[in-house]
Amino acid sequence: MPQKTIKAIVLLSGGLDSMLAAKVLMMQNIKVQGVSFKSYFFGAKLAKKAAEELKIKLKVVDISDEQLEIVKHPKYGYGKAINPCIDCHILMLKKAGELMRKQKFDFIATGEVLGERPMSQNKKSMEIIERESGLEGYLLRPLSAKLLPETMPEKESQVEREKLFSIFGRSRKKQIELAKKWGIKNYPTPAGGCILTDLEFAKRLRELLKRCPKCEGEDVRLLRYGRIFWNKKTIVVLSRNEKEGKGLESLAKPKDMLLELKNYPGPLALVRSFANGVSEGTVEKAKDYIKHYAKKNPRNKKPEFLIRNYE
Ligand code: SF4
Repeated sequence: MPQKTIKAIVLLSGGLDSMLAAKVLMMQNIKVQGVSFKSYFFGAKLAKKAAEELKIKLKVVDISDEQLEIVKHPKYGYGKAINPCIDCHILMLKKAGELMRKQKFDFIATGEVLGERPMSQNKKSMEIIERESGLEGYLLRPLSAKLLPETMPEKESQVEREKLFSIFGRSRKKQIELAKKWGIKNYPTPAGGCILTDLEFAKRLRELLKRCPKCEGEDVRLLRYGRIFWNKKTIVVLSRNEKEGKGLESLAKPKDMLLELKNYPGPLALVRSFANGVSEGTVEKAKDYIKHYAKKNPRNKKPEFLIRNYE
């Protein structure tokens, strides 16, 4: 009787650890499919590159709104910035679990390394993540597997535990050594691709959540742009260059106001109220910000403004 092909889903972030996790399994003749995620806070570009390098299929799942809800109310709190990594891992693994059951994969693997990240990669958090994602026994972490309890695929000899690893901690020496040995050349530096770990962005997002707890994805998107000012429950976002101006324009939605100088160059301001509309006072403030950050006023021209209201 032909042997059954063992199939695993690997959570592929695009970083070296997740690439190695996939590679370890591929070297045991396990058929691997990558799954990656995208949201308001990160994309799947690196994962796509990694899947190409590994020559495996990749499914990208959009978790934008679900992740935003988690960012607003994380059960397990935040890391250093506004990154709810434990809750976020649970969400991603739940999604991967749905896929596993639907498409009859045998188990799920991740590139998590015990002790590598203070918040989400310690023994306690990894147990919580496994339990709450509903994957108990079916979540393999090949890079640290020998330091963790045996999983079902190991018990059922779908995976050889002996060929898995016991990597611990933040040093990347072993991973780099494995990448070299297995010919993995193109992998990114470990800098996080998720903007929720950025301290400056975290400040902006905290402010938005404080002033508008019900904010949506299209509000969060504004925070990636330019200079931000608040007047009570109204946000003024000022572009820093032409590219940002175009980006802001594309994010305008009904009831927003766009302001710019008519008679000499300067930034574009997008004004959005989260309460009862944009007040006269805020419009005046927005004009002041524009004047302040505009290029030098040629021959002291009296500034004239173009104001567009999005209906
Ligand atoms: S860094 Fe961002 S994407 Fe990664 S687990 Fe944390 S919150 Fe989620």
